Amino acid sequence: MPIIEVKNLKKYFPVTGGVFLRRTGWVYAVDDVSFTVNKGETLGIVGESGCGKTTLGRCIMGIYDLTQGEVTACSQRVSKLNSTQRKKLAANLQMIFQDPFESLDPRQTVGQILEEKYRIHNRAGADLDSTIAKLIEQVGLLPDSLSKYPHEFSGGQRQRIGIARAVSMEPDIIICDEPVSALDVSVQSKILNLLLELQEKMGLTYIFISHDLSVVRHISDRIAVMYLGKIVEIAEAQTIYDHACHPYTKALLSAIPIPDPELGKERIILKGEVPSVENPPSGCRFNTRCRYAKQVCRKTEPPLFANETNPSHLTACHFFS
Ligand code: SF4
Repeated sequence: MPIIEVKNLKKYFPVTGGVFLRRTGWVYAVDDVSFTVNKGETLGIVGESGCGKTTLGRCIMGIYDLTQGEVTACSQRVSKLNSTQRKKLAANLQMIFQDPFESLDPRQTVGQILEEKYRIHNRAGADLDSTIAKLIEQVGLLPDSLSKYPHEFSGGQRQRIGIARAVSMEPDIIICDEPVSALDVSVQSKILNLLLELQEKMGLTYIFISHDLSVVRHISDRIAVMYLGKIVEIAEAQTIYDHACHPYTKALLSAIPIPDPELGKERIILKGEVPSVENPPSGCRFNTRCRYAKQVCRKTEPPLFANETNPSHLTACHFFS
C-alpha cells in the first residue's frame, strides 16, 4: 500500500505584467505528474534546475495549493485538510532543506530550536530535556551543541541539526530537498549515511530531490527523472543506471565523472538552452535538445510507456522505452 500517491498533479504559477499586473501567461512548473511511494522506500527525483522537482516536493508538503490533481500522504488528501488536520499531518510529513541555516533562527540555541518544535506540536513532555539530548546524539552531534547557536556550526553540522528537527516528530515521510548539494563531497557521504541509518531505525519514507544523479544513486530505491515539469523516466535505481532508455536520462548519466577515465565513456553534450517553462516546446518537451528528435516528437507528446520486459520501468519517448 503506497504511503504517498500523486495523481495527475499540475502546478502552474501565473505570470503577470503591465501597469495593472494582469496575468500574461503561466509557468508550467509541474505538469501532469503521477507516481506512488511505498512505506520505507526512497524515491529519488532528479533533473536540472527549473525542472519542477522542488515545486513538486512543496506540493506534496501542502505548501502550495494544487492547480489540478491529487496528493495523498498517509491516507489523507493533502489539499482537502482543514487547519487542525493539516497541523497533525505536518508533524508526520517533514522537510529537510538545502540550506538549513536559512530555516534556523540565528537568535536561538540549538536546544531552544528543538524545544520549540516539540512545543508547537504539543509534544513537550516532562522528559523533554532527555528526549532532546538523545535526539542530538542520534544525529551525531555532541551534547554541548545544544547550548550553541547555528552560526557556530559547519555546513555539515547544520544539516545534522536540520535532520534532528525533521526526525524529532517521528514522522513517516521526509522530503529531502537537495540536502547535500551545498556540502563538500566528504561531508555529503556522511550525511547520506546518517539518512540511511535513520531510515533503517525509524522506518522512514524519503522523497530525495537532487540535481545530481550520482548523489541520488546512493540513497534511492527508485528514481524519477524530470524535465520541464514532466517525469520522463521512472524505474528502480539500478535499472536507471544500467538500462536507462530516455535520451535525457542518458545525457545526465554521461555527465557523472567515473573514477578511471581510461575506461572511457561518451559524454553527451546537450545542445541549446533549457527552454522556458512559460513556453515549453510542443510534443515531447525534450525535442529541442534531443539528437534523435523526429517530426512526430515535435507534434505528439509521448506518454510514459512501460518497458515490455520490466513493467515498473516507464519512459516517455516515442522511440526508446
Ligand atoms: Fe527525443 Fe523524440 Fe524521444 Fe523526445 S520523443 S526523447 S525528442 S526521441
